[in-house]
Amino acid sequence: MGKLLIANGRVIDPASKLDAVQDVLIQDGLIAAIGPNLDATGAQRFDATGLIVAPGFIDMHVHLREPGFEYAETIETGARAAAAGGFTSICPMPNTQPVNDSATVTSYIVERAKRDAVVNVFPIGAITKGSKGEELAGIGAMREAGIVAISDDGRPVMNARVMRRAMEYARSFNLPVIDHCEDLHLSAGGDMHEGVASTRLGLRGIPACSEDVMVARDILLSELTGARFHVAHISSRHSVEMVAFAKTRGLSVTCEVTPHHFALADEEMEPYDSNYKMKPPLRGRRDVDSVLSGLVAGAIDAIATDHAPHAGSEKMQEFEKCPFGILGLETAIGLALEKLVHTNRISLGRMVELFTLGPACILSLENRGRLQPGLPADVTIFDTARAWTYDVNRSASKSRNSPFDKHVFRGGPVATIVNGAIVWQGA
Ligand SMILES: [Zn+2]
Ligand SMILES: [Zn+2]
Repeated sequence: MGKLLIANGRVIDPASKLDAVQDVLIQDGLIAAIGPNLDATGAQRFDATGLIVAPGFIDMHVHLREPGFEYAETIETGARAAAAGGFTSICPMPNTQPVNDSATVTSYIVERAKRDAVVNVFPIGAITKGSKGEELAGIGAMREAGIVAISDDGRPVMNARVMRRAMEYARSFNLPVIDHCEDLHLSAGGDMHEGVASTRLGLRGIPACSEDVMVARDILLSELTGARFHVAHISSRHSVEMVAFAKTRGLSVTCEVTPHHFALADEEMEPYDSNYKMKPPLRGRRDVDSVLSGLVAGAIDAIATDHAPHAGSEKMQEFEKCPFGILGLETAIGLALEKLVHTNRISLGRMVELFTLGPACILSLENRGRLQPGLPADVTIFDTARAWTYDVNRSASKSRNSPFDKHVFRGGPVATIVNGAIVWQGA
């Protein structure tokens, strides 16, 4: 591998508090130097004038559908969509077929990713066998095979005793426990957030408290066990408040938010359009405002997309019948800029932190999410001004389920560099 000079960009690295126009020199897959006017004889040159140069973005919550549902996404296509969205690392959830609940499945994903993926893939293992919520999965063996966290995302552990045992185990392996916080008895049969909009549309509601009671339970269990607990896709006001409170008490509690949950409220959804159907559902305006405040105040630690591809045939059904989830990888930077930075809610540095150092710390990825000499050269280059239109029909994903098709963004990914190689570059 040769040398690559990323010249004259605005380099933002939250870990070292760097925010200055500088060069980044990459050699043999590693960051070799960062500084002004670097000597780069013989290096390939990438002119980043006017662009942001950041540590490689990490999406700690995606669904790649392989093994088992390759008609909707594969490790290869999901990784391509990630690269096109400016992500250099992704963490696939275990709800594949078979479920990633053993070292065998973890190893399969790791090997496939080595062969097929243009970005780094750090799998998340299941909490329980088959994600059935009964018996603990082979957590220690999966960790040996490369998982970075455990979760039964989509099929939350309803039995508090099982969750307690899982946290005790996870703690001994220093793995975070990521919970999709949803009391399935409270949300049963719901299709969208329970509120004025669901009443008006005549759709069954999913109350915010179905999320809140599980966030409360898991915070208490985390305190009891000393385990690191991470709330997946936080969406409700009370949940954000509880996480903030847990942090003030010094507990190891973190959370992520998806772009769609800070970008859209329930009243903004296209009625009966399945591209607006996801779990948790788009919440009410007050919930969205709380999520935005949590991003500003520090209660929220990361932005993760919950990229959830579904084949057209699955999503082209009546609203009540179609599955939950939308694509997210390619629109995340655009939405974060639009809703968080261009509105002056947070600084560009804070936005970069939410996509890099935030998830890297939660997952103990010590070599990622930072721009420092000696570390793997994962770099995300993006711009903050150029207008572009998202065309889901040209997505690198195999699926097309996005509510942001034809949306005009201001700023987005320009180039994605993984371990020193440019794996994606925009037009
Ligand atoms: Zn989930
Ligand atoms: Zn998910």
